[in-house]
Amino acid sequence: MSSAEIRNRFLAHFEARGHTVVPSASLLLDDPNLLFVNAGMVPFKPYFLGQETPPFQRATSVQKCVRTLDIEEVGKTTRHGTFFQMNGNFSFGDYFKEGAIQYAWELITNAQADGGFGFDPDKIWVTVLPDDAEARDAWKRIAGLPEERIQPRGLKDNYWNMGVPGPGGPCSEIYVDRGPEFGPDGGPEADEDRFLEIWNLVFMQEELSAVRAKDDFDIAGPLPSRNIDTGMGLERVAYLLQDKHNMYEIDTIFPVIEKAMELSGKKYGAAGPNNTAGHLDDVRFRVVADHVRSSLMLIGDGVTPGNEGRGYVLRRLLRRAVRNMRLLGYQDPSLPELLPVSRDKMGESYPELVSGWDRIAQVAYAEEEAFRKTLQAGTQIFDLAAGEVKEAGASTIPGDKAFALHDTFGFPIDLTLEMAAEAGLSVDERGFRQLMAEQRERAKADARAKKGQHADTAVYRDILDANGPTEWLAYETLETESRPLALLREGAAVPVLGGGEIGELVLDRTPFYAESGGQVADAGVIEFEGGTVEVLDVQRPVRGLVVHQVRVVDGELPADARLLHAKVDPQWRIGARQAHSGTHIVHAALREVLGPTALQSGSYNRPGYLRLDFGWLNALSPEQVREIEQVSNNALRADLPVGWQYMTLGEAKDWGAIALFGETYDDQKVRVVEIGGPWSRELCGGTHVEHSSQVGTVVVTGEASVGSGNRRIEALTGVEGFAYLARERDVVGQLSTLLKTQPGDLVGRVGDLVERLKQTEKEMERIRLAQLLSGGAALADGATDVNGVRLVAQRLDGAGGGDVRTLATDVRARLAGDAPAVVVLVGAADGKAAIVAALNDAAQARGLAAGDLVRAAAPFLDGKGGGKADLAQGGGTDVTRIDEALAAVTAAVAQG
Ligand code: ATP
Ligand code: MG
Repeated sequence: MSSAEIRNRFLAHFEARGHTVVPSASLLLDDPNLLFVNAGMVPFKPYFLGQETPPFQRATSVQKCVRTLDIEEVGKTTRHGTFFQMNGNFSFGDYFKEGAIQYAWELITNAQADGGFGFDPDKIWVTVLPDDAEARDAWKRIAGLPEERIQPRGLKDNYWNMGVPGPGGPCSEIYVDRGPEFGPDGGPEADEDRFLEIWNLVFMQEELSAVRAKDDFDIAGPLPSRNIDTGMGLERVAYLLQDKHNMYEIDTIFPVIEKAMELSGKKYGAAGPNNTAGHLDDVRFRVVADHVRSSLMLIGDGVTPGNEGRGYVLRRLLRRAVRNMRLLGYQDPSLPELLPVSRDKMGESYPELVSGWDRIAQVAYAEEEAFRKTLQAGTQIFDLAAGEVKEAGASTIPGDKAFALHDTFGFPIDLTLEMAAEAGLSVDERGFRQLMAEQRERAKADARAKKGQHADTAVYRDILDANGPTEWLAYETLETESRPLALLREGAAVPVLGGGEIGELVLDRTPFYAESGGQVADAGVIEFEGGTVEVLDVQRPVRGLVVHQVRVVDGELPADARLLHAKVDPQWRIGARQAHSGTHIVHAALREVLGPTALQSGSYNRPGYLRLDFGWLNALSPEQVREIEQVSNNALRADLPVGWQYMTLGEAKDWGAIALFGETYDDQKVRVVEIGGPWSRELCGGTHVEHSSQVGTVVVTGEASVGSGNRRIEALTGVEGFAYLARERDVVGQLSTLLKTQPGDLVGRVGDLVERLKQTEKEMERIRLAQLLSGGAALADGATDVNGVRLVAQRLDGAGGGDVRTLATDVRARLAGDAPAVVVLVGAADGKAAIVAALNDAAQARGLAAGDLVRAAAPFLDGKGGGKADLAQGGGTDVTRIDEALAAVTAAVAQG
């Protein structure tokens, strides 16, 4: 049975049982606790947490998932992909354990001819929480499972929670016995490879008040309404129903392995099908196929490679895929060969992979190119490190070098190990792993710091429940009369907010725009009888509720103030509208100039200023920037009408409206803003001007990189734009006066000046050197006799390392003759000491060595150094004891 058919059957089964089919959310769904969506329930979280009321009581979905923690398992177990699809059915206060078990059992055991998956009931095992008698009984009664195939398993495996206070409950997992040839008897408790987990049923029935670990939490009591959340691995079911030995061999993944075989000339499966622990090459093939597919899906949802967060995961997946192809013996660019194969398979279920292909391919191929360059550069760094180790007479590459190669150059440790072995060296792997562990700790601490945000919203949810959503008038008016509904200070209700104090105010209705879609919140005031508060920020912490952060500037604000007057600053608002419309205009101009693959990945705008981040690999040329500015201003001059309307997400897409990656939209009602008809159509909730000419002007002020594959363009709008140009004009005016020239000649004039300055600096350097060297004769004349050696040991203030070296060899040449001669000079400049020792042949014949003399002096300079017998140098950071350093040299010469 094909993967597509498994997916269709799953959805049809639950749709026929009253479930609403919900399309997969983006992998990048906004969730402060997650890098990627990692389970089918994630998009439904607000319903399970009680933050929002679900529009349905039953739902079913096939959700795209990425689990980064499973990356090390890929190819080694039979069942872990970094990307996979989770089939799920959900009940919100509707059916519970019995219903979930009934529906699951029907689907897996109904004959294939009847729309089921047709698993042999005798091969099914389940696990339940030991004291969950209800689930155990249901399995016996509904499925007729015998006692011995219902295994009890503890909290670690069979209790589900979100890691934060909120809902929790026991699970029941469904396993399929693949047969005795795959492992010992004894059910999932004994062997999870032979007994394959396909489906997890979660019964949310308790409210947790504290969660310390998976198996350590406090139960506050039963949930008022009990829920069902289930997850069935689509790829796992596919591998069983397609009679394969692991998930990498199914219809949607194996073609990549086939292509990799063709490219590398190696054979997959040479180790025999049962060798799941893995013939190395087989694991490599599977890693390649898995990572290529995951990368495709991630780029499809808008991720670009980078050095942190989501971007880093993608980078790692792409590079591991490329690296494993190299290990399979294929050295040429491999993604252009493999990625299209994956697209052809996944595109059936995810048409956006086909429509967005140009952009996806561009991002992936560029990353492979970059990695190839990295490998080249990294190889040079490695050679350097290896050289140093050898020169120092050691045989181990230090851990921090290996870590730097990995961290800075993306050089995988296995590559470092391999190359070290080739060079006859070892690597301090322990040191490396230690540094890696420290880095992971830091990352985990970051992640922990992000947790616990659910709890904070509870107080807002209560306000929302008590009063309903805020009547939001930002599109209609700038002023309203309002009633206060809640007054908070530091998260708690207060009866009054005193003069100068900052708190949060919730109104029944408000004209203030709450920050969203890149547009900052409105500024303004709220007046009440006897005083005024200034609005500092406006947010929507839970959907439907607008919260004003305010500071009391006059009087005292009582929580029960009778009538308030909310007033948005009209100047602020017009600036904000100009900037937001300006953002859409620059975006459209960008796409006109660069092509449709330039897509916004984020934006920010406030009165007078906008910035827009977009996926693009190279720096824009000055010509491109100028053209974008020109196209934008032409659109202003054309005085295009700006309008907006509501429609369904589907209609908006048909219209060609641009939706932002990673944003969640209400399918039924989205707002589309258009400028000049189809020229610019975007999903947007912001406030806009009515005609493009009202933006005033668009002045592009910058273009820069913000992480790999992402650029940022910044611009000013309205009077801010004019003010910027006026300032530039002033600067040009002042410069022209200063240089006594016309603005048009300014560039030539400054160019001349710079050239002359360069010449002058060169000349000065020549004179300085001549002067320094002329001191050489005097130094040579001042040589003293120490134990038959002519010794010059002198301090040179203002001389750096290069000068000291030049002078030392010059003085040595002046002390020509057969007698032993030693020159030691210590320069002091900018708080640093530089020492050079130069010896002639006769001095070396006496057993003196320049390196020894430098080493004798260095400790007094708080530094180090060394070199050969004829010439050595060093440096230090202490210039207060140079005399002692020179005395030490003299003493060494006297002894030698
Ligand atoms: P396992 O112990 O096998 O890693 P899990 O307990 O982590 O599985 P759940 O979190 O219960 O799995 O996820 C629900 C279902 O999703 C599983 O029953 C399985 O079918 C599927 N699944 C989970 N992780 C993966 C993965 N990395 N690749 C493919 N399918 C997966
Ligand atoms: Mg797992």
